[in-house]
Amino acid sequence: MEMKEKDGPKAWEDICLRCGRCCYEKLDYEGEIYYTDVPCEFLDIDSRLCTVYPERHRDRPGCTPLTPDVIRRGILPGDCPYVLDIPGYRAPLMAPENPEDPE
Ligand code: SF4
Repeated sequence: MEMKEKDGPKAWEDICLRCGRCCYEKLDYEGEIYYTDVPCEFLDIDSRLCTVYPERHRDRPGCTPLTPDVIRRGILPGDCPYVLDIPGYRAPLMAPENPEDPE
């Protein structure tokens, strides 16, 4: 993954399949990352694309740039190409309806 990042920003961005699955709100519950079914306000549900992509970090300060360190925190689904080669990668789970009972 770090080799791909060193290939330059375009090569790094080209890894993304634009599936939009990482553009859903996440919860950190006791150190475990959970996806919710709440999309980012800027995600076009039909196209699965960000509607403010060039300005996403300005318009939505919580939109974190994807770096190898951020990716290792477990915010991307397990079959996302950015994480496929990370041994032991722990993908987020779906948030339970009752956050007090994550089982
Ligand atoms: S989950 Fe991975 S492939 Fe899909 S949009 Fe996010 S970074 Fe791109």
